[in-house]
Amino acid sequence: MEAVTYSIRLDDSNSEEYYKDAHNFTDEVIFHASLTITPIAEEFMDYLHTFRLEEVRKVEEYILELISFGVLWNSYSQTALSVKHAPFITMARMAEWRKKHQKAKPFIDFARGIFLTFFLLPAEKEKQNSELPALEQIDHVCKWFEATGEFREQALRFIRWRAFWGTKNSAELKNMFRTIDDFTQWFKKRSAEVFGKYTANVEAFLESSRKRYKWREDRISCTRSPVEYHLNMVGAELMNRAFKSEFENTNSKAVLLPGCIRFHNNNECKSKRVKEGLICEGCTPQCNVNRLREMGKRKGFDVYIIPHASDLSLWSPKPDRPACGVIASACVTTLVEGGWELKRYEVPAQCVLLDYSGCKKHWHCRGVSTGLNVRELKRILSN
Ligand code: SF4
Repeated sequence: MEAVTYSIRLDDSNSEEYYKDAHNFTDEVIFHASLTITPIAEEFMDYLHTFRLEEVRKVEEYILELISFGVLWNSYSQTALSVKHAPFITMARMAEWRKKHQKAKPFIDFARGIFLTFFLLPAEKEKQNSELPALEQIDHVCKWFEATGEFREQALRFIRWRAFWGTKNSAELKNMFRTIDDFTQWFKKRSAEVFGKYTANVEAFLESSRKRYKWREDRISCTRSPVEYHLNMVGAELMNRAFKSEFENTNSKAVLLPGCIRFHNNNECKSKRVKEGLICEGCTPQCNVNRLREMGKRKGFDVYIIPHASDLSLWSPKPDRPACGVIASACVTTLVEGGWELKRYEVPAQCVLLDYSGCKKHWHCRGVSTGLNVRELKRILSN
């Protein structure tokens, strides 16, 4: 099958080689970070601890935050800084409303699509004087990130970094931002060498479909550059490492799947609606969801189909319900944002990438049934 943008199944077989590459490259990223950006992450952890701003998390999470900052700053700061006036707060709220009010989502998304193109993505970009960030620019770019609805989790984290950077003098800041930028340039080049074969169709897709996404709410999500795919690939691996022990300490497990992995479309699928999403009724033996549901019966996990941009706070531990370990699957462009959101709701989570994207709503005119690597799922469950 021809990949729409990415495919981690080379030669249409399976994605085992990808998982080896992702594991090895993440080791390389951590090693390279230890010589460059990890000391910045550790200083930030000390700052958070000293001022009791949060319970300090694993260092991998802060490394991922710094890589994300570098890549997203490179990708979007020029656009964001060219936007002087926009209904930033209203747009950020609209992105949250669509999660809480699924029935109103189509109307909210219609309005978001227009606002996004009209206010947040100007045709002309202003040239910036310096490629290194200034603190007031970070404030503005974070507002833009939140308003897009695509980078809310990142913005929440970058604002905390911004407070830390506010304690530094200009020479220290310049040094830190130079180090982050050097790391970002290394990551861009090296990740393309390792992951380029899995994202070979992204550029051609961008070239042929930019016009199609104008005025659509998924314009940013579906027009990500190759380096953002690579960031999320490493991000998924870093998150799995950082969240592993919390996940393993849970007694019950649930696998959350996107609707595009079903054999049938929405109209023909016989799944039953429950509070958490949809539960498969097993209408078709060759359906991937049905197979995972059968596996879940044997191995002791539940399977839910959840719509894109669902309210993930449903999964947070409650006084009467102990934490449930969640394995979420989604396409590369949305996985890390979802992982961070689950973390914010204190859900012990792991993730497995969809092997390729193909849903009708966002990616493919007829829709392609997607899949995931069941061996990777089993490895996560058996650890
Ligand atoms: S097997 Fe389950 S998920 Fe698949 S189409 Fe039937 S009801 Fe829907």
